[in-house]
Amino acid sequence: MNTSEAAATTIGGTGGRAGAAPRVIGSLSPSRAGDFMTCPLLYRFRVIDKIPERPSPAAVRGTLVHAVLERLFDRPAGDRTVEAALELLGPQWERLRAAEPVLATLFADDAAGESDQAGWLEQARRMLERYFTLEDPRRLEPAERELFVETVLDSGLKLRGFIDRVDVAPSGDVRIVDYKTGASPRADFEARALFQMKFYALVVWRLHGRVPRLLQLMYLGNGEVLRYEPDEADLRATERKVEALWQAIRRAMDTGEWRPRTSRLCDWCDHKERCPQFGGTPPPLPVVPVDRPTPADLESAARAHDAP
Ligand code: SF4
Repeated sequence: MNTSEAAATTIGGTGGRAGAAPRVIGSLSPSRAGDFMTCPLLYRFRVIDKIPERPSPAAVRGTLVHAVLERLFDRPAGDRTVEAALELLGPQWERLRAAEPVLATLFADDAAGESDQAGWLEQARRMLERYFTLEDPRRLEPAERELFVETVLDSGLKLRGFIDRVDVAPSGDVRIVDYKTGASPRADFEARALFQMKFYALVVWRLHGRVPRLLQLMYLGNGEVLRYEPDEADLRATERKVEALWQAIRRAMDTGEWRPRTSRLCDWCDHKERCPQFGGTPPPLPVVPVDRPTPADLESAARAHDAP
């Protein structure tokens, strides 16, 4: 899709389809849906118990690289060079640290090899340099960046999330772009990676009645790009999957059974010490009033950038 002269169309928004708005029964973002698919107990710790997690160097680096790429497009097209991106790195890191003082402690007691802030920043630099091998931002005029979208399905389930970038071609074709600061997944994990993109495509389709033409995942960890052209059947299947996921979450809420599911991601889980699979005991479930608010209130809309 040629987006070099992309139309400045507003693609974002919130809302549902025309007609009476259904009562909202719950809310889901791709990140939290991914948590539940990874491990229902992890979802519980994050969404129900709301247990704070320590920021990890890899996740914060992801946030930093995303911030630089977002700000890069503030510059006039001709100035969007690799040097300009690298110049943004320091100020954006300072801004993030000022906004979240806890980040100042990020390297304080890390003995795992990423403690060296200079090395950490060097990796962020390499990711930005790699970005320029994948596309030329001087030829792009994104319609939206860091776009918050939400819509309510007919069932009353609210879907929401942040899209890194939306490009709209003069023809009206929409491309949804997501930056990943990890490496591209193995073939058997691709479907999982694409789920998040189809989730966004479903929201955009429901909001604007047009199926996005292209979903594009850019892996800045190894310089690969995953592209996918969805169709209506894909997005209907995604809707069914999201609804089924929500039903499973509701069952866990009703029964209080949040099953742990071990995987290699346990190595990075902040909740290992309270996980029964590793000898821990989860805290008692929070008491929820009988006239509790809708489950929509249980989920934070916080932006969760990509995992390392
Ligand atoms: S350690 Fe593994 S099984 Fe336990 S809560 Fe975390 S992700 Fe789930």
